[in-house]
Amino acid sequence: MSRLPTIDEYPERYRFRFCPRCATPLAIVELHALPRQRCPACGWIHYPQPNIAATVVILHQGGVVLVQRDIEPDRGIWHLPIGHVEYGEDPAEAAAREGEEETGLRLAAPRFLTYTHSPSYGDPLLYYLVFSFVSESIGGTLTGSHEGRNTRVVPLAELPPLKWTSQQAAVAALRAAADDGVP
Ligand SMILES: [Zn+2]
Repeated sequence: MSRLPTIDEYPERYRFRFCPRCATPLAIVELHALPRQRCPACGWIHYPQPNIAATVVILHQGGVVLVQRDIEPDRGIWHLPIGHVEYGEDPAEAAAREGEEETGLRLAAPRFLTYTHSPSYGDPLLYYLVFSFVSESIGGTLTGSHEGRNTRVVPLAELPPLKWTSQQAAVAALRAAADDGVP
């Protein structure tokens, strides 16, 4: 098992000094053999969580849909549609929602491919849990450019190397499934 980050290795956004519920300074206590930040006034305990995201390989007109990133970091790279899973949202629904928003296509119900758990490129202290899916387009119109985002369709065999770990894993899982005869 990999070593867990200690409290002083939490990403900036998780470095709390005061209780977010009652603003009392937090104390450090040991709970189940791990140091935790706990509020001595109301009992709130800080359990940091990874960011959770969903990405989708969209099969469309004989290829895979890539979108061009229009914000930093990594502005300009081509990637699979990806976005954060909203609180209470099923990751498969998040994958469909992000895929449809970013491409203009309508998608069949996404099928699970794999997941990755890895540090963010933007902040290596922040972990991402990314669920990867595959789906077919079933309608809509691929937007050549949408909200400043460009799209293109590339045959799976000619897909360029994708930068993000989650997307490399999604493509590898899809190719493995294709090799096994599962389209
Ligand atoms: Zn409190």
